Amino acid sequence: MPNDINTHIVHRICPLCEACCGLELKLDGNQIVNIRGHEADVFSHGYICPKGASLKDLHNDPDRLRAPLLKRDGKFVEIGWDEAFAEIERRLLPIVAQHGGDAAALVIGNPAAHKVGLMTYFPRLAKALGSRNIFSASTLDQMPKQLSAGLMFGTWLSVAVPDIERSDFLLILGANPMVSNGSLWTVPDFRGKAKAMRARGGRIVVVDPRRSETAAVADEHHFIRPGADVFLLLGLVQTLFDEKLVRLGRLAEHTNGVDQVAAAVQEFTPERVAARCGIAAPTIRALARELAQARHAAVYGRIGTCTQEYGTLCSWLVDVLNVLTGHLDAEGGAMFPKAAAFAANTLGKPGSGRGIVTARHKSRVSGAPEVMGELPITCLAEEIETPGQGQVRALISIAGNPVLSAPNGERLSAALDMLDFMVSIDIYLNETTRHADLILPGSSPLEDSHYDIVFQQFSHRNHARYSDPILPRVNGNPPEWQILLRLAAIAQGRGAQLDIEAFDTELFTADLRRSAPAQADALLGALAHLTGPERQIEFSIRTGPYGDMFGQKPDGINLGKIKAAQGGIDLGPMQARIPELLRTPSGKIELAPPMLMDDLKRPAAALKEAAPELVIVGRRHVRSGNSWMHNLPTLAKGPYRCTALVHSSDVQRLGLHDGGMAQVASGARSIEVRVETSEEMMPGVVSLPHGWGHDLSGIRMAVAAERPGVNLNVLLDDALRDPLSGNAVLSGIAIEMRPVQG
Ligand code: SF4
Repeated sequence: MPNDINTHIVHRICPLCEACCGLELKLDGNQIVNIRGHEADVFSHGYICPKGASLKDLHNDPDRLRAPLLKRDGKFVEIGWDEAFAEIERRLLPIVAQHGGDAAALVIGNPAAHKVGLMTYFPRLAKALGSRNIFSASTLDQMPKQLSAGLMFGTWLSVAVPDIERSDFLLILGANPMVSNGSLWTVPDFRGKAKAMRARGGRIVVVDPRRSETAAVADEHHFIRPGADVFLLLGLVQTLFDEKLVRLGRLAEHTNGVDQVAAAVQEFTPERVAARCGIAAPTIRALARELAQARHAAVYGRIGTCTQEYGTLCSWLVDVLNVLTGHLDAEGGAMFPKAAAFAANTLGKPGSGRGIVTARHKSRVSGAPEVMGELPITCLAEEIETPGQGQVRALISIAGNPVLSAPNGERLSAALDMLDFMVSIDIYLNETTRHADLILPGSSPLEDSHYDIVFQQFSHRNHARYSDPILPRVNGNPPEWQILLRLAAIAQGRGAQLDIEAFDTELFTADLRRSAPAQADALLGALAHLTGPERQIEFSIRTGPYGDMFGQKPDGINLGKIKAAQGGIDLGPMQARIPELLRTPSGKIELAPPMLMDDLKRPAAALKEAAPELVIVGRRHVRSGNSWMHNLPTLAKGPYRCTALVHSSDVQRLGLHDGGMAQVASGARSIEVRVETSEEMMPGVVSLPHGWGHDLSGIRMAVAAERPGVNLNVLLDDALRDPLSGNAVLSGIAIEMRPVQG
């Protein structure tokens, strides 16, 4: 739309966090003048947080890579794309030929979830490589929730989210949506929605070891011992049975296993779990009653409930509470979004399916089970270090920085140097990619088109939006989907020079002939004008739950209609979806999956264990998210944020000083941090933000290096995992703390 002589306005879905706000950018030629919220966006209605405007910094960042880098004699030099792909072919193929497919590993970080090219073509690369050594940031984050959702409802992404705009009561554990705007819950402007909820008489209760930004606006806040959520949740479930508060309502005929759950939680009375979780028994009973009696209520648990040793149990118990109180799949409760495309719970026969399986293979060294096609990322270092058949000798890393984001990054850093070959696809030369032999630059988000294939599946309201590329690619750089596809061609032995558009059509055609053999030719004809991610998106939308079925449903949607609609298409509030959503073999909600019933023996055994005297947890700031955001001047400015928050009683007890330095140690590992006295903290709990530690040699992130901070994950033990999901334990690690003299 023309604005004045030199400027024009364009729109883009923000790729910087899960809230996926609609942005409005004012451009002068190819220069970004300013960025603000897009008022007409059907989902975010003009909301923007401080990170949104930093997209300009990201696009203009002189440190952002714009050409392939090859390491020669220990130094990176710029090369052309043909040379880069030839180098990969020359070095990767012999490793796979000699040692087998598992010798090459893939690791992908969570920024990829915001890149439609990476999301749609990563599976192509993984299949071509044929390796079982697939790792991702999911096992540092949300894998427990995906596993519990899969076991209960039959697909990995059937995650129920609070229907906040119609809710009266929210119980939030281990989450800080005031800062995150939701995680596994896409809810831009949580602040405004929480305020509106309270204005109509609703109540929010937060359980967290820190009086977080969300706790500060809640009606009630309870401290909890980090990692002890499982005890509180079991106490709540036990109270529902004990006080005869269980009301499944409509879900009763669709649910298996209620009696097994009742029997399994019997011993976890509020009186027995109180000491372990740090919340008094009468409070636990009162919370259970309020939840049961609320008309429209939801329990929501997030990062703190996942990144701990009982992550899958906690994730499951959150939904057990929602089911037993009749709040699952009910208006104003925890409901299931229905995404317009790419949702496994809208495919196949409604109401039943094959469910999920895990442990189809195990990691070679620790024997950790495969979950969702992946192995725990904390197994990567040992898989590189340990000789034998299947040893990882080559690595392709994509949009990730596990040296900073995974526990014991020092070990992983040393292991990466042992590889025979490493290639990274990334926008920065960071703490992980510095180990690569070759770095292929990813795109600026403003150079890419975008359609959310992940976060629509967690959105509090159904919608479909699309963004065109806004700015031209520099240096003729290929889009990311083509980079992945060319790597797939190399891995398949088809050669670095293969016609990539033809290869794309070949793979798409093969998919179509498998899934819809009778209509394949007609569909290929109808999609012939598209290529790459757009072709996959168009196909998925038109055959999806709101789609026009290629003309059979003229009122249905397609990509053209979405592009034409200013601010996207609103598809309405979430609707009840059970039993249609279920893909379990029984066609029922499985409330008592055997794997989880069996795992209850761990908290039962730990019930009498004393909690450590001092533990550490992470925290997230509104001006941060991924580690590379520390290189964006708009976000990096302001007070120094990488401080350890310590309650005043602990400051005094440990002889620390506000503003002074302290050593934090866990076993043999230690870091030095600046102390900040804070009454926000639960006594006995210290909080340090994650993703810092930009003082390693060889990185090219000048702004981040000015104030590097310290890396919390140095303290964490890479052997500690939730045994079911393989998720790393990032929270509640026992520490010792002492002042650093001078
Ligand atoms: S809340 Fe997230 S999606 Fe919205 S503007 Fe901020 S960073 Fe972007």
